[in-house]
Amino acid sequence: MDPIIKGENLEIVYNLGKSNEYRALRSVSAEIFPEEYIILFGPSGCGKSTLLYCFLGTLPNTYGKLLVKGEDPYTYDAEQLVQFQQRTMGIIYQAFYLIPSLSVLDNVALPLIFAGVSKLDREKRAFGLLKRFGVEKQAYKLPASLSGGQQQRIAVSRALVNDPEILLADEPVGNLDSISTKHVMDMLDDINKKEKKTIILVTHDAKYLPYAHRVFYMKDGGLEREVPNPEKPQIKAVEPGKTIVTEIETLARMYPYSSVDELRVKSIINFLTQSLNFDQLERLEKTVEMVMMGNIDELNFQKILNMRVDEGGIGLRLPEARKMTEKLHNILEQSFDVKRYRKGVTSEGLRPEFDVFIRRLRTDLLDQFEGQVVPIQLTRLEKAISDRVSGLIKKEDFQTYIGASISNGGAGFPARTARNFTLYLEKLIAQGTRI
Ligand code: ADP
Ligand code: MG
Repeated sequence: MDPIIKGENLEIVYNLGKSNEYRALRSVSAEIFPEEYIILFGPSGCGKSTLLYCFLGTLPNTYGKLLVKGEDPYTYDAEQLVQFQQRTMGIIYQAFYLIPSLSVLDNVALPLIFAGVSKLDREKRAFGLLKRFGVEKQAYKLPASLSGGQQQRIAVSRALVNDPEILLADEPVGNLDSISTKHVMDMLDDINKKEKKTIILVTHDAKYLPYAHRVFYMKDGGLEREVPNPEKPQIKAVEPGKTIVTEIETLARMYPYSSVDELRVKSIINFLTQSLNFDQLERLEKTVEMVMMGNIDELNFQKILNMRVDEGGIGLRLPEARKMTEKLHNILEQSFDVKRYRKGVTSEGLRPEFDVFIRRLRTDLLDQFEGQVVPIQLTRLEKAISDRVSGLIKKEDFQTYIGASISNGGAGFPARTARNFTLYLEKLIAQGTRI
């Protein structure tokens, strides 16, 4: 399969040669395949929009090589560029950019004028799209009289009116309330699934990540990582030899942000923290797996822990076996929450229960904290949990944020508590992705 977009060492410099010269893209290489849903994700200012407009062919001072459907838009003159954009890409923006003096129908039909389509056909096609997205009643109104959600649906119709294969979206729900957000996100999902259009969506909000096949994590103008969404069947085949065989690779899936060294340390710690020998560990792993697969219940788990080694058990004393069973019970219970949270958006769009999961995780963490907390600490703790569970921030960022003082924008917990919360949450995240 050939990529529909292929960028090699893309660099973009704003204000070239001036005192405020700025390199907004640094040697970005990426391949996007037909029918993929890609999210460009990262903090504000990291270059997401720049990369998106780079794909569109509109940015001056672009270096490197870009091919979109085999064409290099940067070799085109102005007129060729417009034609190229019309046949390959539609785009929607956070601020909609509808033309205020034109009716909704004319806004949607406008790109077809440039494509030389007759008036009757233009209106037919535009009306069909408005109908499909449930805004046909608004066809003869002016954009300003509509809600934000309706305006964005109209902007999506306009982007699709030329039937391009690629749809670009720059923070398309950034200005919308939660109900319109869900509507628009589900529309885009549908366009990807049914019409098989390639979607490239820019967002800084982690809760949309589950919609993507792959997430491109950006930082300081660079593409840091490309992470396949484990919950979605992949369009880009996993390369041979890249299937998961080692423990490090398994861990790497769970902790997409960690370096190889960090993963090695993790796997050694996993090993060292157990006072069990190799055989016992192996058996323990199998037994835990059986519980997670639902093949044995917790009572039987405890029995196997307590059984003598020469009888096939793990050889723990009863109090130890009880304690471990209880721990397993708690971790499984809570890690289901993490998994539900991550899955939530995939099939049914955004769900209000997200907040409930986050609140439960927050309660689980706070139950281990002896001191008193104030409301702002609750809010910040929940925000940090939500960001970490959805992969927006790294483990270290989570710990720093939890431990930073309230006046410095943190959640204001003691360093030791921050560390304990972090370790505990990481355990849940690891379990959540694995079950
Ligand atoms: P993001 O979409 O991730 O928030 P952008 O791609 O918009 O980031 O911007 C990346 C960086 O480039 C930012 O530091 C921004 O200030 C700078 N930048 C963006 N557009 C321009 C421009 N037209 N002129 C100069 N600097 C720009
Ligand atoms: Mg942007």
